Amino acid sequence: MAIKIEKKITGYNVITEEDRLKAEQVAAEQQAHAQKIAEIVQLGEPLSRPEMLVGNTYKIKTPVTEHALYITINDVIMNEGTPQEHRRPFEIFINSKNMEHFQWIVALTRVMSATFRKGGDITFLVEELKSVFEPSGGYFKKGGKYIPSLVAEIGEVLEQHLYQIGMLKKTEPDVHQQKLINEKRNEYLEKQAQAGAAGNAENSEGFPPGAQLCNKCSTKAAIVMDGCLTCLNCGDSKCG
Ligand SMILES: [Zn+2]
Repeated sequence: MAIKIEKKITGYNVITEEDRLKAEQVAAEQQAHAQKIAEIVQLGEPLSRPEMLVGNTYKIKTPVTEHALYITINDVIMNEGTPQEHRRPFEIFINSKNMEHFQWIVALTRVMSATFRKGGDITFLVEELKSVFEPSGGYFKKGGKYIPSLVAEIGEVLEQHLYQIGMLKKTEPDVHQQKLINEKRNEYLEKQAQAGAAGNAENSEGFPPGAQLCNKCSTKAAIVMDGCLTCLNCGDSKCG
């Protein structure tokens, strides 16, 4: 292709062998730099599986499955023998007599296991799973806790496991808060008794009958007292 020179030529250089080598060197350095960046973006080397892993198996019974589900989460011990030693999930298996849900459960556990092995933060999986809602409306667990789906229940188990190995920190009401909750509960039950409310003072979950679903902890434990909705499980209150 011909290039038309429209400006005055004020000087010129001939590309020497030295210039060419220099340009190559710069290009190589740039490529190395780009590769380095790519390495940093990578979350971590996928872990290879050790011969033996430690883990926990959780049994869950749900109204949406005929048989109990056994959820096994195995952990790998990182930086063993150092002050930074910690456990992180490596794989998850779910077993049940009931084969009805088998296919999607296998797919889910494989994707979860792959995510575990990728390294980096995995705690986001808990919220992702727990926010899955079943069109049928979910169900209540013993203890009055609302579970929106079987997927969410698997998320609950993962959360429980992450609490246990210390990857998530529990935010339970402290002693002071628990005392306040107990006071509120007793006050409410007294008022109910005075009003001559029939039947048991508490439902099978240990919360007053007619308790509403708490938006914070999803438990049927919120009562209206003095015009305020207060949860007797987690202590959440609209009026502080
Ligand atoms: Zn609550």
